[in-house]
Amino acid sequence: MQTIDHGSHGDIREAVRALCADFPAEYHRKVDEARGYPEKFVDALTKAGWMAALIPEEYGGSGLGLTEASVIMEEINRSGGNSGACHGQMYNMNTLVRHGSQAQREKYLPRIATGELRLQSMGVTEPTAGTDTTRIKTTAIRKGDRYVINGQKVWISRVQHSDLMILLARTTPLDQVAKKSEGMSIFLVDLHEAQKKGLSVRPILNMVNHETNELFFDDLEIPVENLIGEEGKGFKYIMTGLNAERALIAAECIGDGYWFIDKVTAYTKERQVFGRPIGQNQGVQFPIAESFIEVEAANLMRYEACRLYDAGEPCGAQANMAKYLAAKASWEAANACIQFHGGFGFAAEYDVERKFRETRLYQVAPISTNLILSYVAEHILGLPRSF
Ligand SMILES: Cc1cc2nc3c(=O)[nH]c(=O)nc-3n(C[C@H](O)[C@H](O)[C@H](O)COP(=O)(O)OP(=O)(O)OC[C@H]3O[C@@H](n4cnc5c(N)ncnc54)[C@H](O)[C@@H]3O)c2cc1C
Repeated sequence: MQTIDHGSHGDIREAVRALCADFPAEYHRKVDEARGYPEKFVDALTKAGWMAALIPEEYGGSGLGLTEASVIMEEINRSGGNSGACHGQMYNMNTLVRHGSQAQREKYLPRIATGELRLQSMGVTEPTAGTDTTRIKTTAIRKGDRYVINGQKVWISRVQHSDLMILLARTTPLDQVAKKSEGMSIFLVDLHEAQKKGLSVRPILNMVNHETNELFFDDLEIPVENLIGEEGKGFKYIMTGLNAERALIAAECIGDGYWFIDKVTAYTKERQVFGRPIGQNQGVQFPIAESFIEVEAANLMRYEACRLYDAGEPCGAQANMAKYLAAKASWEAANACIQFHGGFGFAAEYDVERKFRETRLYQVAPISTNLILSYVAEHILGLPRSF
C-alpha cells in the first residue's frame, strides 16, 4: 500500500518493523487472551534502544525527536501490536527531560536508557474531577523535607509494570489560587517504595487488555527532591507532556488505521461470495477507500504537530486535531474491517476484534473527542467558553 509517508524515516521504520516481525499478531493475541503484559516485546524494544528514543545522547539515549518517537509507536501498531503497553515512557520522558532538574536527569535518565528503570506511568485522572483536571483533590502538603500525599486516582496505567510514575497533585488549595490551573505540582514517585508506605493499587479489569488501576494515597511521604520543576506550575508542565501524548496517540491510531486497511483489503480481494470477490462491490470498496483517505489526512496533521513540538513551538491545536482526526480515522477503518470480515471479524484468531477494541479506547482517552471539539471551538474559533 502506497502511503504519504512511504519512505520517510525509512531506517527507523525498517528497524522497528524487523523487531516487530519477531512478535507477530499471534504473540499479541496470546498476551491479550491471557490478559498478560507483553514483557518480552517491551524488553526487546528497550534492549534495541527504542524506549530511550527521547532521552538525550549525553544520558545514554538516542536524542531523537517526537517525530521519530511517533514513527516507532506507529510501526508497533501497524505490525499488529499495541503501543499502549509501553507508550507512557515516550510521553513522560519529555516532562522529565524538559522540566526535571540537572540532578534528577542525572539520577534517572541513564538508568531509564539502559532499561534498569521504567517510567511508564502518569497519574492525573481522578474519579470525582474527571476531565476537569483543575478540580483534582489529591493533595501534596510540604512537611520539612517531604511532601505528604493524600487522595485517589483512577485509570492510572502500567503501574504494575513501571518503576516510576509522574504524579499531579494540588499543593495550594483551589480557593487560594488566582487561576485554577495554578497551585498544582508534579512529582516523581518511586512506585516500589510508595507501595510499602501508603500507596495502594487496585487493578481495573477493562475492555482492552490494558493494565490500568485505581490508586489510593494514604499519607504517602515523598522527598522534596522528587518535585519536578517549580511548585505550583505542574499543570503547565503536564500540558506539554499531554501535547506529546496526543501526537503519539495520533501516530498509534494511524498505525492501527493502516493495519485495518491492509487487513480488510487483503481479505476482500480473496473472499468470494455470489461468485466474485466481495471487494468488487462498491458498497464494500467505498468505506475502505474513505477510511484510507481519512488516515492519510490525519497523518499529515500528525507530522505537523510533531514538527511544531520538536521546534519548541506551540502545538496544542495541531496535537489535539491530529489526535481527533487519527482516532476517528482508525475507528472508521476498524468498523470497515470488522464489517467486511463478516462473522470472521469476531473470531479472535483474525485479530480484528482485538485491534477493534484497542483502537476504540482513543475516542475517550487520553482525552475525549468532545473535549477536543470544545478546545478548538473556544481556543481556535474564539467561541464563548462552555465550561
Ligand atoms: C484504559 C484507560 C487508560 C487510561 N490511562 C490513564 C493514565 O495512565 N493516566 C491518567 O491520568 N488517566 C488515564 N486514563 C483516563 C482518561 O484520560 C480519562 O478516562 C479521559 O480523559 C476521560 O475522563 P473521564 O473518564 O473522567 O470522563 P468524564 O470527564 O467523566 O467525561 C465522560 C464523557 O463526557 C463527555 N464530556 C465531559 N465533559 C464534557 C463537556 N464539557 N462537553 C462535552 N462533553 C463532555 C465526554 O464525551 C467524555 O467522554 C485512562 C482511561 C482509560 C479508559
